[in-house]
Amino acid sequence: METQKTGKVFLVGAGPGDPELITAKGMIRLNDCDAVVYDSLSSDRLLALAPENAEKIYVGKRAGHHSMKQEEINEILVRLGKEGKTVVRLKGGDPFVFGRGGEEIQALQAAAIPYETVPGVTSAVAVPEHVGIPVTHRAMSRSFHVMTGHTLANGETLPPDFPAFARLSGTLVFLMGLGNLHPIVEGLLAAGKPADLPAAVIENGTLPEERFVKGTLGTIEKLVKEAGIGTPAIIVAGETASLDMRGTICRPLDGIRVSVTGTESFSERLIRSLTALGARAENICRMGVRSFAGGAEMRRAYRNLSSYTWTVFTSANAVRLFFEGLLEAGLDYRSMGHLKLAAVGKGTAQELRRFGFLADYVPDRYQVEDLARGLGELADGRDRILIPRSAGGSRAMNEILENEGIPYDDVVLYDVKTEWRERKSLAEILRSSQYLTFASGSGVDAFFDGLTDIEQQALDQVRIVCIGDVTAKALKKHGRQADLVAANFSIPGMTAAIAQDAAERKN
Ligand code: SAH
Repeated sequence: METQKTGKVFLVGAGPGDPELITAKGMIRLNDCDAVVYDSLSSDRLLALAPENAEKIYVGKRAGHHSMKQEEINEILVRLGKEGKTVVRLKGGDPFVFGRGGEEIQALQAAAIPYETVPGVTSAVAVPEHVGIPVTHRAMSRSFHVMTGHTLANGETLPPDFPAFARLSGTLVFLMGLGNLHPIVEGLLAAGKPADLPAAVIENGTLPEERFVKGTLGTIEKLVKEAGIGTPAIIVAGETASLDMRGTICRPLDGIRVSVTGTESFSERLIRSLTALGARAENICRMGVRSFAGGAEMRRAYRNLSSYTWTVFTSANAVRLFFEGLLEAGLDYRSMGHLKLAAVGKGTAQELRRFGFLADYVPDRYQVEDLARGLGELADGRDRILIPRSAGGSRAMNEILENEGIPYDDVVLYDVKTEWRERKSLAEILRSSQYLTFASGSGVDAFFDGLTDIEQQALDQVRIVCIGDVTAKALKKHGRQADLVAANFSIPGMTAAIAQDAAERKN
């Protein structure tokens, strides 16, 4: 009898918000899991660290919806474990700090599912720190204390130990307390804290959306109200809340917001490169590539490889998916020996090289028309060209080849589907972004397809950055001119173009 292997569950602290504040160990666990169970306090960008085919299960609160019951989350973890999966349960901050991690572990213990915890950077310390407040400081605050403000529900009665807590001389930190700010302030004053005791409230700490107010117990409620501070927020009360130890290093893209489109792995790399320069960058529209390499059409093409003389690649994706499919079809590179290879541009040629092939032909200008014209000169009626590419590829190639009388098979190898993040607030995000980036023509098409008028208008003030000429040309079809085209078709090229433009516009 086959015994089913049991999986394991890692409770991983995701850190306070900034995705770079996960621990190295947490990142390693994410890199190598079958499923991620996450909620609202863990960043989208962390999900990109999990393998693309890992199951991603959201168990948090969406606006207007109730969060999933803790028991249901426990059940999901136990079920995945029983299915033999390696599961990462991502939890904001540290799993055990008001995170109900303990309850999840008790459920795993009861079901005998192996588990481990990976500590995280807790928001209780990191969020005040990010706005320049150290939780302890020599001769000023010799302890810090963390309490939930949530059990103060219904406002009226403070928990029995609140007065003792309020009398502590160290820095007092309240999580989940914003809704009870009033009773908290009153309680602190009643316990003898002076009205001029420094206090701060920080929303979305360490994230690009971070906002905060600093004042005193006497002023903090008014400041919070005026600024419209919302959740998630942390309340700090204590002498150190008057300090300002915020970092002073300036970066070229400080204060710049960039909306990024592209595949998950591309976007992740571009965002990392932009945030390193201080930008607030986020993916607004993810392009998912769906391969049809195992479909009937491609199977036929692989079987008949010997009947072709050329294979033409119009994107790096096509190269990668073509070779992956080749092996899946039970063939290897020896079946390619007789073929000449054409690539639309440098990136595509480089991808071919990664697979161990040199392109026989790359046009001078990286455009599908130039590629087709070049082929028109290199090939003739006795050739047969295989074009494995994305659905909806440019017809210009087909027309040119037909005019030249060169036989070809244009086979759909993959398509690109878009996945919007926060489609509801897209117009708003675009309006507050200085730049919007595109990394492929199919990405441009996918983005503009189905854009509403309001979203279209929101594009007016944003500067559009294209990775190369082909992408810029696709943009033109949608009535927009690229404001910037990277001099170098790459992530560093795009980053440099934005940094240079931002510097010029600052002056
Ligand atoms: N385990 C988490 C805390 C979970 S309780 C940790 O260790 O950080 C959730 C509360 O944490 C929120 O209500 C809020 O008070 C606080 N919090 C978490 N992330 C925050 C952030 N980025 N900014 C402000 N408060 C945050």
